[in-house]
Amino acid sequence: SSGKNQLRFFSREVLAHRERAMELTELLRESVEHGFEGFELYYQPVFLSGGETLSGAEALCRWRCGKYGPISPVEFIPLLEESGLIHQAGRWIFRQAVATCALWQKRMPGFLMGVNLSYLQLEDPTFLPFVSGVLEEFQIPPDCLVAELTESYLAANIQAVSEALLQLRRMRVMVSMDDFGTGYSSLGLLKHHPIDVVKIDRTFVQGARASAFDSAFLRFVSELCRSVGIRVCLEGVETRGELDFVKPFGLSFLQGFYFGRPVPRTEFERRFLPGGPA
Ligand code: C2E
Ligand code: CA
Ligand code: CA
Repeated sequence: SSGKNQLRFFSREVLAHRERAMELTELLRESVEHGFEGFELYYQPVFLSGGETLSGAEALCRWRCGKYGPISPVEFIPLLEESGLIHQAGRWIFRQAVATCALWQKRMPGFLMGVNLSYLQLEDPTFLPFVSGVLEEFQIPPDCLVAELTESYLAANIQAVSEALLQLRRMRVMVSMDDFGTGYSSLGLLKHHPIDVVKIDRTFVQGARASAFDSAFLRFVSELCRSVGIRVCLEGVETRGELDFVKPFGLSFLQGFYFGRPVPRTEFERRFLPGGPA
């Protein structure tokens, strides 16, 4: 019957999805074993509120799979997490980002580098000692490094995570709450965790000019954060019109395709750093 066929079609799709996940995980494992072959960090510029002065960058991981070409981090980061490879890959990412930050500090003192951390890395007791070793090795001011953690993770693990955040704070590394506004109980989290920067999810920029809720949310969060000394970064500014619209909201940092897409290291140097390529 047609019911049966539909069921079979559905399970075939699920199976295909599982098969691709398993194959990509094996290819990721090979890449990691071959010295992170195909992995590269891209850097997206972050600007100060007026939109004219560079404040730093966010490091975003890219993976070019030998068999299928470039794969989105939205697909491969969860596979790294499920397979446990995130521990090795996350250290590689962190060390690359800090090495780049050390170079760029020389050209632009105070350059802020954002690095995304997976919750699994914070749960690993050997990760924070590793962080402190890398900071020592590259001699960068720790408060130029911003550890980005998603709101959903901070919400789900209040007890477990607060010790790790306090340790980061003791090292003077900054902490940002990523994808703010996409989960639950956001405002309570600001009270419970030592957060330096809130990154508002890009869906709010797109919505802001059409939706009274989204623009009120931007205004409200930026006012609340300002009054308790938390800086706000707005992600996903894509057009001049959006920039003009959000300017009066008093946000600290702006990021998005309008200012620049994530690009390889040398391209970032050429386009955004004083003096061009190293
Ligand atoms: P995220 O941390 O929220 O990173 C911002 C994402 O938004 C990036 O996607 C960036 O390219 C995209 N984006 C920035 N500006 C705009 C804009 O104006 N418009 C639009 N439409 N998109 C914009 P990307 O690079 O594909 O990364 C996706 C997600 O993958 C990241 O979201 C982050 O959660 C994860 N990710 C990326 N690199 C890493 C990493 O090194 N470690 C970990 N743990 N996660 C990573
Ligand atoms: Ca991020
Ligand atoms: Ca984000």
